[in-house]
Amino acid sequence: MREIASKLTEFRAGITAIDTDYVRPRLAASHLVVDDGRAAFVDTGTTHSVPNLLAALAHKGIDRAQVDWVLATHVHLDHAGGAGALMRELPNARCAVHPRGARHLVEPSRLIAGSIAVYGEERYRKLYGEIVPIDASRVFQPEDGATITLGKRHLEFIHTPGHALHHYCIVDREHELVFTGDTFGLSYRDFDVDGREFIIPTTTPVHFDPEALCLSVDRIMSYAPRSIFLTHYAEVRDLTRLAREVKERVLAYADLGARHRDAQDRTAKLQHDMFAMMGTWLDAHRYPGEDGERHRLLDGDIELNCQGIEVWLDRK
Ligand SMILES: [Zn+2]
Repeated sequence: MREIASKLTEFRAGITAIDTDYVRPRLAASHLVVDDGRAAFVDTGTTHSVPNLLAALAHKGIDRAQVDWVLATHVHLDHAGGAGALMRELPNARCAVHPRGARHLVEPSRLIAGSIAVYGEERYRKLYGEIVPIDASRVFQPEDGATITLGKRHLEFIHTPGHALHHYCIVDREHELVFTGDTFGLSYRDFDVDGREFIIPTTTPVHFDPEALCLSVDRIMSYAPRSIFLTHYAEVRDLTRLAREVKERVLAYADLGARHRDAQDRTAKLQHDMFAMMGTWLDAHRYPGEDGERHRLLDGDIELNCQGIEVWLDRK
């Protein structure tokens, strides 16, 4: 009990961020939303994260039968890898997943093969463990604009391509907030400087589309939210600046890709230049960490981002 308390962060509107213990502390969150005695998880982390999610429920005195929804913003495994294992523990829950992603949670073999292609077999096993399929009768496939009820609140699904074709975001108009999965980018709390948030886009394979991603950011902002909750990591509030910066940086990634399209050693050049580019952004942000610390916090994302940019270059 005491141990789980250190992994929880409480926010307004009945929202708790739960550290999913993915890769390092405060890299990935599942958000628990509670309204009038009913509960939902937004993203689940991996199968290894499920004990933290169940411990968070117990810590807050919420019975597993009170959970109505598991909301998977998209099927990348740091977001939905644990959805099947979690659903097994929640007798009344339904799992909402984009119509283009649903089959991957019902029959995960292609998802597993695709993830092994990205991460390699050994790292895949360590990071994700077993992927449990979800019975199709428990899966809800929201169309763009669909709404559900959680307790007394209404949640609206909007389809937001750009990071993944099968990505949705969840709008809570009454509480003026949006859960954006990976669409609005990453903002690790490690980079906060005097409460100022730092943001970078994430372009994990295989659906990166810069124009679509910028349009999706604009669509999120069209709801004029006061808070955005990112899976990586939790609440950000300086939204006008962050929306502008994340779009500029999406285009900077795309320019970087175009510049090295035909280069020898393309992967190495992309990774080198992306680290340098992020360094200029961190310097402008007055982040004091040295290169060693920057590599520790960013290299995993740089590797994935560059893979995603190369897939995009080869598709164009
Ligand atoms: Zn993702």
